[in-house]
Parts: sequence; C-alpha cells; structure tokens
Amino acid sequence: MRIDIVTIFPTFFDALDISLLGRAREDGILEVEVHDLRTFTHDRHRTVDDKPYGGGAGMVMKPEPWGEALDTILPAEIPDVASGAGPIVIFPSPAGEVFTQAMARELSGASHLVFGCGRYEGIDQRVFDYAGSRASVRLVSLGDYVLNGGEVAVMAMIEAIGRLIPGVIGNPESLVEESHEDGLLEYPSYTKPSSWRGLDVPPVLIGGNHGAIAAWRRDAQLERTRRVRPDLLPPE
Ligand code: SAM
Repeated sequence: MRIDIVTIFPTFFDALDISLLGRAREDGILEVEVHDLRTFTHDRHRTVDDKPYGGGAGMVMKPEPWGEALDTILPAEIPDVASGAGPIVIFPSPAGEVFTQAMARELSGASHLVFGCGRYEGIDQRVFDYAGSRASVRLVSLGDYVLNGGEVAVMAMIEAIGRLIPGVIGNPESLVEESHEDGLLEYPSYTKPSSWRGLDVPPVLIGGNHGAIAAWRRDAQLERTRRVRPDLLPPE
C-alpha cells in the first residue's frame, strides 16, 4: 500500500519508522511519503492560513497550498471516481463519519491512501470539493471530541489500517480474536505466573479443556460488552 500524508508538522510521523509499521516499510509492504504543506506556498512567510470569510474565531487553511499538494500527489489521469477506482483521500475531521474497525478493514484493502491533516479551524471547504473531483474523498472522525490537528488522528488510523495489511503482523490469527472484530470487546488475557500478589488466573484457563476455555472467553466477552459498551449489542 502507498500512503501520502500532507501536514504542516511532518516530524509527527517520524514514529512510523518504528515497531511493526517501521518493519513493514523496510519490507516494502508499506510505502509512506510525508509532504510538508508549507513547501506548496510561495510567500516569504510560507502562509497556510487566513481569516474566515463571514467572520468568527480562528483561522482557516487556505486552498492554494492544498490544491498544489493534491496535484503533486494524485495521478494526472483522473480515474473513474464513481467506480471507487484510484486513490482514497481521507481528511480527519470531527465532523466526519466515525472511524471503526470495519472501516479500517475496508481501507486496508486500498492500494493508495492520501491523508490531509487539518489545523486551526480546519480546511477551506473547496479543498474537499476539489479533491472529490479527482479521487474518492472521506471525512473521518476519530470520535466525538476535538483535537488540535489531524496528525494524531491520522497516526491512529494508519496504525489500525496498517496492522490489517497481510504480512504486517507475523501471526494473522492474533487479529481475529481482537475487540471489535466480531462486534464484541475482547475477553481478559492472562500470562505466567498463575498466581501474582494474591490474584489468581481463572482455573479454567489452566485446565487445558479447549471447549471450556472457548465458552469462558465468549461469556467474558459478552459480560464485558454488556457492562462497558451495551451499544455494541443488538437490541434484545
Ligand atoms: N473547527 C473544527 C470543527 O469544529 O469541526 C475543528 C478544527 S480542529 C481544532 C483542527 C483539525 O483537527 C481538524 O481540521 C481535523 O483535521 C483535526 N481533528 C480535530 N478533532 C478531530 C477528530 N475528532 N477526529 C479527526 N480529526 C480531528
């Protein structure tokens, strides 16, 4: 998969050099290029923002640098956008659709993702409209709260998407039993020692009865989901 990221803070993405995603880049599974939005400005101050039309607090990101960045990254040939062909451009936004494991799985099958990190009060609306004429565009929210910028949201999305790309995680089975994969939260996990500071591992996990272990885990998943995230369960 190819990933392009546009940001005014390129060093935010230095962390993509480490751990599993770093290895995936070394192995050529993931190709990442980070673009500094300010390189697409032409004034002495490398300005990327201006006051909002209509007034109001804060600043809005100007369309011109974004247009040049997108023209550099997106293929010159405009694909049949309606067919879903070509790159997917993702703008993190608290006003977007909420990012989920299902969306991460869907996006892990894409060949080219472009992330545009907003700052200040966000990006001029025409950038989304223009990008939509060149590629599939999605506004995606990490959750119902407001961050200072899109970088942290993009890091989270790339990590969630990247670990689902075949070859990134050594044992693909470890992806199957995770929270949200089957619509439930994961069961509690334990490792050695079996007794620690007066706290014991549930005996069923030590007994070696695989059927009983599976049943215990399923019950634990249901109990935890009912207690912490009842909204994930179908209505009774
Ligand atoms: N004025 C915007 C609004 O009310 O929708 C918020 C702008 S926020 C301060 C600046 C940038 O942070 C946004 O353009 C977006 O890129 C990012 N951002 C903030 N909260 C986010 C969230 N929950 N999910 C994804 N991105 C977010």
